[in-house]
Amino acid sequence: MPHAIVLSGVDGLGKNSFALQMAKTVLCTSPLSDGSACGQCHSCAVFEAGSHPDHLEIKPEEAGKQIKIEQIRNLKEKQQLTPTVSSWKTVVISPAYKMNVNANNSLLKLLEEPEQNTLLILVTSKPHYMPITVKSRCQTIHFEAPGQQQALAWLKQSHIDFEQNSETSQHLLTLAKGAPLKVIEMLEGGYETQVEQVSTDFEMLVQQGVNPVQLAKDWLQYDLTTVMNQLYHFMLSRISQANNSLTRHAQQSDWAIVDCIIQTTKLISSQNNLNKQLLLEGFLVDVSNVVIANKTR
Ligand SMILES: [Zn+2]
Repeated sequence: MPHAIVLSGVDGLGKNSFALQMAKTVLCTSPLSDGSACGQCHSCAVFEAGSHPDHLEIKPEEAGKQIKIEQIRNLKEKQQLTPTVSSWKTVVISPAYKMNVNANNSLLKLLEEPEQNTLLILVTSKPHYMPITVKSRCQTIHFEAPGQQQALAWLKQSHIDFEQNSETSQHLLTLAKGAPLKVIEMLEGGYETQVEQVSTDFEMLVQQGVNPVQLAKDWLQYDLTTVMNQLYHFMLSRISQANNSLTRHAQQSDWAIVDCIIQTTKLISSQNNLNKQLLLEGFLVDVSNVVIANKTR
């Protein structure tokens, strides 16, 4: 067994559950003949209760924040103790790309001189954010999203409100990068309504039927990253539809709008203290100008 594993793949494929199951299995003191955790022994019981002394889970102390070096130092101290319940010690770090530079350097030392019988599992949806020095010392297991039809069928079966053949359902799956559990999270967060509203509003904006400044106010309630992601897919599908039609080819203005989306997405990811309203207004006014220029040409 390797002493460090990276589980990579987009969010919503069950990587975290897999990591925990893996840890539980390694810690189990009387595994079944197929190697899986028994669910009966003391180790399995304390693991399920969330109080296994030989298991540690590291995540950002506050949602969206980084994993700090202190947390990795704490891990190192724990790694030097002998296991008390099981013969192994396990650690799950998730999301691993949230480790800052210092935390990564500290972890690297641990990977270079691993303790006996320890398993470190790093869970990440953004493996490219992790240093190569760390990744190269781990074995990577990559999770692929299921095919679209399979995912839609599974969602229909497991989520009562899910309409397998609706356009919004397929759209949600695209936005979730094909990950079914992410779609469920979106459905439970009322994201479906947001997707429909944003689509309708944007369609009207592109047809010059709405005031961009007013629209910016309406959209303030939404998460900008997901809105931009949605609009990006919206424009790409509009362009591909146009290219497949005999009467209308994708216009330069469509690509200009895609540019606006890309620019705004870059701004969102580069600045911490941006003024959301100004950014939205700027974006929607730019799109509106592209539309007007196109119409008057
Ligand atoms: Zn067990």
